[in-house]
Amino acid sequence: MLEFYNEVKMRYCKRCLFPDTKPDIFFDDEGICDACRSAERKNGIENAIDWKKREEEFKSIIDKYRSKDGMNYDCIVPVSGGKDSCFQVYAMKVIHNMNPLAVTFDQFDKTETSQHDLQVLREIGVDHIHFTMNPKIVRKLVKKGFEIVGDHYWVNHVGIYTVPAIVAVNYQIPLIIWGENPQLEYGGPAASRDNQILDRKWRQEFGLMRGFREEDMVDDDIQLSDLKSMVYPSDEKIASVGVTGLFYGYFFKWNAREHLKIVESLGWKRLPKAWQGSWLDYENCDMEFIDIREHMKWLKYGYGRTTDQVNIDIRNGVITRKEGLEIVKNNDGKVDSKHIDDFCKYIGITKQEYQDVIDTFVNTDIFEKDENGNWKLKQEVN
Ligand SMILES: [Zn+2]
Repeated sequence: MLEFYNEVKMRYCKRCLFPDTKPDIFFDDEGICDACRSAERKNGIENAIDWKKREEEFKSIIDKYRSKDGMNYDCIVPVSGGKDSCFQVYAMKVIHNMNPLAVTFDQFDKTETSQHDLQVLREIGVDHIHFTMNPKIVRKLVKKGFEIVGDHYWVNHVGIYTVPAIVAVNYQIPLIIWGENPQLEYGGPAASRDNQILDRKWRQEFGLMRGFREEDMVDDDIQLSDLKSMVYPSDEKIASVGVTGLFYGYFFKWNAREHLKIVESLGWKRLPKAWQGSWLDYENCDMEFIDIREHMKWLKYGYGRTTDQVNIDIRNGVITRKEGLEIVKNNDGKVDSKHIDDFCKYIGITKQEYQDVIDTFVNTDIFEKDENGNWKLKQEVN
């Protein structure tokens, strides 16, 4: 009779497939999540956003940052080589007639596809700084990120949001153009959804640092001096150059599929095949071990990359919730065993050690082991 109380029911958004076990998600009285409500506003159903006005606002802001004599860059665009960053370079260079400097924080698990795509991005006609951190330190940080915070991309998140700010200070280029605001596309605290600025506070709170600052990674093996490129410039330095980070997606309606069309016309390539655990072959083309991270996310929160991807198409009316549900059931939580082997080799652990780490992050309220010893959701996605 009391069985009911032992079961933790996951509740799903009525419109998309996010569960209420996702961190920072809010469901309203109608059972609709805040990411869906944001999309409603973005798509103008409530006519809440005046896109024309925002476009004008953007134009007047960037005009202030154009180099007077053309002898400095007008802005920085942080790039991974993915479709969105390629589109942003195209937008700033071709649509807005700016002179951007592209900046990449090197990813330890970059793919061949991303090398090709970065070349396509440079061919748009921009200078490019490719910053590569000491690989010995990166490897240690990847291992630590995996074991302590359950995210081997901690070093990437910090590097991606820090190195462009360092370059901005050193090259005296005040304007940094970021892409979408993740809180708008993927949900998050209401106050952050209409944010147009990326600064130190944003990086700390939403930049996927998972509560760990760079100095928290210091130990017998890693000195603070090894982490120079992870330390955000001081407030004085930021203020002296006037560094301002803007989300392009605040000013223009972000549509990944439209961006894809544009960058493919420039020669940008997709992955040969979508990663396991994902559904789209044109996302995360720059990271080989994304499926390991998404598998871990699935075990922590009950949803994976496929859910993220499918939800956007559901909200944009590309597919129905029912169609999305089948796709999620078939894809979320899968991981490529070759990637696990390669990853273990890279950070120098055994597969058993890998499994032990994974198991410490599983939310056992919502997961249980099946007869083969694999984790499965207690309750099917619905
Ligand atoms: Zn939703």
